[in-house]
Amino acid sequence: LLFSYNSQNYKIQTQNSKKKTTSLICKIDAFQKKVQSKITDLLQQMEEGLKTADPHDFSTYTGWSGIALLYLQLYRATQEAPHLQRALDYVKRALRNLNGRRVSFLCGDAGPLAVGAVVHHHLKNQTESQECLTKLLQLQRSVLSPDSDIPDELLYGRAGYLYALLYVSKEIGPDAVDEATIAKVVTAVLESGKNLSKEEKKAERCPLLYEWHKKQYLGAAHGLAGIYYMLMQPSAKVSQDTLNELLRPSVDYVRHKKFRSGNYPSSLSNETDRLVHWCHGAPGVLHMLIMTHKVFKDEKYLRDAAECGEVIWQRGLLRKGYGLCHGTAGNGYALLSLYHATQDKKYLYRACKFAEWCLDYGTHGCRIPDRPYSLFEGMAGAIHYLSDVIQPEGSCFPAFEL
Ligand SMILES: [Zn+2]
Repeated sequence: LLFSYNSQNYKIQTQNSKKKTTSLICKIDAFQKKVQSKITDLLQQMEEGLKTADPHDFSTYTGWSGIALLYLQLYRATQEAPHLQRALDYVKRALRNLNGRRVSFLCGDAGPLAVGAVVHHHLKNQTESQECLTKLLQLQRSVLSPDSDIPDELLYGRAGYLYALLYVSKEIGPDAVDEATIAKVVTAVLESGKNLSKEEKKAERCPLLYEWHKKQYLGAAHGLAGIYYMLMQPSAKVSQDTLNELLRPSVDYVRHKKFRSGNYPSSLSNETDRLVHWCHGAPGVLHMLIMTHKVFKDEKYLRDAAECGEVIWQRGLLRKGYGLCHGTAGNGYALLSLYHATQDKKYLYRACKFAEWCLDYGTHGCRIPDRPYSLFEGMAGAIHYLSDVIQPEGSCFPAFEL
């Protein structure tokens, strides 16, 4: 599969020759073993490197709760208790450093609180888990406050708080967060989008418009794709009317911004076709398109997502390195999502090729990120990806997919 794949070839191999099928299984087996041993190796490097990391960075994006999230993933994949214990150690470190400045899962207090609630839940520490949930829910006051200047995007804004609520509901159960709170946050995001759209006189073309630092971004981290993706989550329970009248035309507006290459601009004011990242460009927009296809069952969205997949396959190995936000692992997750949506093994093969590239960690002359061991910029993200690629059916981009 990994070394000689094309769809025709694959069929012939599996149908006609038992011998070849056996050799194929051997290759898959060898690949899984290689990935597994690399995970062990990188985990050691990461632990060593984290000794000099910023002790106060509690964030999911670059700090301790991101590392806790990695260990939760390893626990999920292996059911080995020491991973859960590590997740607890790291999330405790994060929880000691909350600063009340931000509300999102990736960069604010909601991340450690949500991860803390889930880790304690797995350990059956009900009191501690509930304590985290209570604090998480208290953040809604500033999220919903009409005179707050909180943005709506995923990294720092309301969509990032919404993710935290949906994440704990999924991991702990529907009773973890009351539906009314989710509805209030969803409404706040919708209202904000409607207001800006009216202000900019775009109510017809793009009824939900958002900006961050005065720029109307399109990508998953700061822009429309990430916000629409979160609003379309089934667990966000947005009404069918709102989906039809507000979200669908807004998604179509983003679709029409596509470059001829199939990639997407980073913002509405940027015409350069340069970035192919989860944060900016096709790899983030792909997730929005797949979700739109799920919601509206219109094949054109899946075709557009497949086009994003081609851009990623052509241009998705990044000099910026191996991470999730603007690295190869993040782009690999887009291919895994496309595999889930289509069941086409071509995408799984491509995701494995991206993983293979990550196996040669540090040998491609990539720029070294500021937080080289973190979940979103560095090594922890690549390990997360490697552990998902060998169990692809349940793979999930952390702090983003649900
Ligand atoms: Zn990025």
